[in-house]
Amino acid sequence: MNDCIFCKIASGEMEAKLVKKEGNCLAIEDINPQAPVHLLIIPAEHIQDMSEAVGKGVLEEVFAMAVLLAEEKGLAERGYRLVINCGEEGGQTVPHLHLHLLGGRPLTWPPG
Ligand code: 5GP
Ligand code: ZN
Repeated sequence: MNDCIFCKIASGEMEAKLVKKEGNCLAIEDINPQAPVHLLIIPAEHIQDMSEAVGKGVLEEVFAMAVLLAEEKGLAERGYRLVINCGEEGGQTVPHLHLHLLGGRPLTWPPG
């Protein structure tokens, strides 16, 4: 996927604030953070969305990395939010699967 920004970040072709890289995923800081902690956990391989991801072990890896990062960022006790936006109406703007880890402030519900 030549023009995919998250593929480019995963390959090092494009810069990002890398927080962790392990196994088949990486975590970066969101460029437009919506909370004091706003990380994106991304499979290194190009997987477009949840439909493509189910049944592949990478989902477990993505969520395991998010939980570990929540602990490392001191959010485990306070609470945090994990979000995967799916498709246009779900608010997915980058068509490469990514899990948002948000925390560090009280998060409201429902989302917009
Ligand atoms: P989505 O709307 O697809 O669920 O989330 C995409 C996220 O990627 C947004 O929160 C947006 O701020 C972030 N984002 C978009 N482009 C870049 C980029 O080039 N670098 C980083 N670090 N984050 C990006
Ligand atoms: Zn990609």
